[in-house]
Amino acid sequence: MAIWLLVMGSARADVALSEAEQRYREQHPEASLCVDPDWVPFESVNARGEYEGIAADLLRLVAERAGLRLRRVETRDWDESLRASQEGRCQLLGFLNQSPDRDAWLIFTEPMFTDVNVLISREEHPFVVDLAALGAVRLALPRGTSIEERVRRQFPDIQIVLTDSEAQALALVSQRQSELTMRSLTVAAYTIKKEGWFNLKIAGQVAGFDNQLRIGVRKDQPLLRGILDKAVASLTPEEINTIINRHVSIRVETPTDYRLLGQLALVFAVILLSNLFWIRRLRRLNRQLRHDARTDVLTGLANRSALNQYFQACLEQAGRYSQPLAVLIFDLDHFKRVNDQLGHLQGDQVLQGVAERLRAGVRGSDFLGRWGGEEFLVICPQTDARQAGQLAQRICDGLREQPLSPALPLTLSVGVAQLAPGEGADSLLQCADEALYRAKAEGRDRVCVAAPGAAAGLATSVRSAG
Ligand code: GH3
Ligand code: MG
Ligand code: MG
Repeated sequence: MAIWLLVMGSARADVALSEAEQRYREQHPEASLCVDPDWVPFESVNARGEYEGIAADLLRLVAERAGLRLRRVETRDWDESLRASQEGRCQLLGFLNQSPDRDAWLIFTEPMFTDVNVLISREEHPFVVDLAALGAVRLALPRGTSIEERVRRQFPDIQIVLTDSEAQALALVSQRQSELTMRSLTVAAYTIKKEGWFNLKIAGQVAGFDNQLRIGVRKDQPLLRGILDKAVASLTPEEINTIINRHVSIRVETPTDYRLLGQLALVFAVILLSNLFWIRRLRRLNRQLRHDARTDVLTGLANRSALNQYFQACLEQAGRYSQPLAVLIFDLDHFKRVNDQLGHLQGDQVLQGVAERLRAGVRGSDFLGRWGGEEFLVICPQTDARQAGQLAQRICDGLREQPLSPALPLTLSVGVAQLAPGEGADSLLQCADEALYRAKAEGRDRVCVAAPGAAAGLATSVRSAG
């Protein structure tokens, strides 16, 4: 059988030993120990073969105080630990209740830890006031416990269902294969929480069934029991509470698993956040890109490519529903002079000011953009040439009557054209352009409306400059 080195005790005992005890310890600096490998959170052996739990930590402290080394003898389960202890293969059983049966081969230290035993039932089971009155109920208990021994003696009617583990005893109750189990409150609370058996409840407490958990020492080792007893007596309530809290408080997984979970959560959070960050950033950049691709940098109006795109959509709609559609080309008169007199930068500001005027002047349904240089195009869906001419005239009058600055009289010439049936974009724009040309030719500061379907270039001056 494999032997595992468990605890290194310090070279010096913290407790005062008798001469006989000191001699014993010199001759036997190491004691062999058997444990319950599956009694979480009291004691268990993890996947790496390490002994852990409340008892493991308490025993480490006791061994350190006693100046002893503890060697764990590996066993498959608690039953085997009990047999190994009876057969003398281990001197100590680390954490158990005293019972008449066990008194046959063990002597005990004072309790290291006291805990109540409670009856656990399913939620719908009535509370148990008197266990004796229940008759032949099934009580699930792990094999080899002192509770089993006591229940058999005190409540012979109760039908005991033995299980191989703590968790299995609770599982039988949860799954209706047993009415009750009686477990340590600490273990039950821990296991119910860990396994998620929330259909279970504490159904009662039986007087005299407290757990007084001690170190059991083979009867032929009274000096060892004396040394350990002194070490147990040196444990302070604070030390014991710290150890219990370390294992019981909300720790339903091993610390390693929590660390791993924590790390995974952190990694996911970082990935998620950086993805969100990048997605938002990309969305913003794409929005910006789409906006920039369609916007004139100087004026902030739609640029030529946006105008063309919108124009096509309007042409289709007008054709499909036989609706009127008009376009207006606005051109600043003698703008070259502005640049020449004030400089190109001021010229830019004038273009921005005019763009603002146009933006304020067109209707919500109209689409305005910079056609190029000092020319602006307005597309007016569901608008005929007469209405478009009036709109153009209003804007021209507004600029003339309220110039951008008193020292800067500015006028506009406008060419207006209405879509003729079956006409395309180029032809319509050409009509508007020719009307504009005519407005210039006739003296500027005016609106010229192309005659309907006048790709041939017939344009009518609506109103001459005032
Ligand atoms: P017309 O009345 O015949 O339209 O005369 P005009 O001077 O307005 O027309 P022309 O085509 O002779 O000159 C247009 C001027 O507009 C020339 C060009 O320098 C100026 N221009 C075009 N784009 C910009 C611009 O973005 N900023 C500035 N400041 N000037 C521009
Ligand atoms: Mg021009
Ligand atoms: Mg011009």
